[in-house]
Amino acid sequence: MKSLKIIILASLAFIFSCTGSKKSVQSKDDGKIEVIILQVNDVYEIAPLEAGKVGGMARLAELRNQLLAENPNILTVLAGDFLNPSVIATLPFDDKEKIKGRHMVDVMNHTGIDLVCFGNHEFDIKEHELQQRINESQFQWISTNVFHKTEEGVQPFYKMKDGVKENIPKTWTWEVTDTDGTKMKIGFFTACIDSNPKDWVVYEYAIPKAFDAYRQLTNETDVVLGLTHLDIEDDMELAEMTPEAPLIMGGHDHDNMIHKVDNVVITKADANAKSAYVHRIKHNTKNGKTTLSHKLVALNENIELDTEVSKVVKKWTDLADEKFEALGFNPNDILIEVDEPLDGREKSVRNKQTNLGHLVTEAMSEAFEDKNDCSIVNSGSIRLDDQLSGTISQLDIIRALPYGGKIAKVEMTGKLLKKVLDEGLSKKGKGAYLQWDKIEHNKQSNSWTVNNVPLNPEKEYAVIVSEYLLLGIDIKSLSRESEGIIKITESDNDDPNNPLNDVRTAIVQYVKSR
Ligand SMILES: [Zn+2]
Repeated sequence: MKSLKIIILASLAFIFSCTGSKKSVQSKDDGKIEVIILQVNDVYEIAPLEAGKVGGMARLAELRNQLLAENPNILTVLAGDFLNPSVIATLPFDDKEKIKGRHMVDVMNHTGIDLVCFGNHEFDIKEHELQQRINESQFQWISTNVFHKTEEGVQPFYKMKDGVKENIPKTWTWEVTDTDGTKMKIGFFTACIDSNPKDWVVYEYAIPKAFDAYRQLTNETDVVLGLTHLDIEDDMELAEMTPEAPLIMGGHDHDNMIHKVDNVVITKADANAKSAYVHRIKHNTKNGKTTLSHKLVALNENIELDTEVSKVVKKWTDLADEKFEALGFNPNDILIEVDEPLDGREKSVRNKQTNLGHLVTEAMSEAFEDKNDCSIVNSGSIRLDDQLSGTISQLDIIRALPYGGKIAKVEMTGKLLKKVLDEGLSKKGKGAYLQWDKIEHNKQSNSWTVNNVPLNPEKEYAVIVSEYLLLGIDIKSLSRESEGIIKITESDNDDPNNPLNDVRTAIVQYVKSR
């Protein structure tokens, strides 16, 4: 018995020594390390779009699972713009607060997002709401050029974690070790566009600040990468100044792109996780050489939805569906298939007439049974900041116009109509810029036509407007008391099926009737 025990122990020792020696061979640092960075940007929607076929955080999570099986050294980054806008964000959370990005942070925590930078839309929500979202987040934030203006002066934004205040750093370094012990440090700097001024936010010059951070990181790390939220032109300018940073992962532009400035590659994925960039980075610690590859992966039906993340997403979408149903909508009702995407991007709707703006105003005209001359809506009521493509549901219309709002017929003088249209045009780039139907502006002569006839200041016009415009906030020359208003006709009931009570109902009914 004793000898058997010895034999077993001896053979065990042999096994251990074998695995031990194997391990020591494995743990020899070969000087080569490979990591994966999974990049998305501008994600406003937690659920898949286009009748479930495209995007969705659960699909991103599944892609991450697949990459994780290939290489455990993966970092998932989101290059800004995620807390707003979305229709879910506008819904009440409790009696005091609205959801305001809570749903997104919850889903991002479950998706395995590791690192984010600020985008302009992070400052859409109130100061205390942003603080709450940062505190709820389980991922790392960095901010090279955007700071918090407080009574005590300009300070970094911070996260409160277990009662401890953790400042959001200007740079962040990912320290990675692979299975054989090769180590690498990847440093990140950021740069955020200053397009969303708030009295509690300080934007320092993005490019010089990013350059300073880049210079510091080149001394401290093996590879330096950018995570930015800028217009592509600014990314390219930045890239010229950061020749040793092989990759800038950007956001803000909502369509996928890849550019090269000398040796610096700039990538952006499609908004709303319709696609993601997979960057594979190989580094040789012996000669300091780094090679990268970049692959844009479409997040479509070829990728399943991660079950766990889907559950978290469903928790929030169920809540939203319930609220929309109470308003008389059927969010999952499919309305149309479009060949050409409907353009609701902020940079489009606030600067030029788009097909989505036209659909909205045409539906407003049609909501009135009797004749009218034209219709106008403030572009700021379109909060999608994305395009609607493929299959369009009632939810997409709600997403496009999260605030809804009543519509009215305003009989007014041509003189007032001209004033209103001129003012709308002067608000290019802002939410007060108007989208219209049956109106045209001639740039050369700076004149207007209504129904192909020159606008006559002496004539009377029946104009369909969003009732919001009658508050005189966006277009100062238009309010219920404006000189030139003859008559205002609006809904006289609370019927949720009355298109005059909600512009979204008007659109749904119009699309169904076509
Ligand atoms: Zn942006």
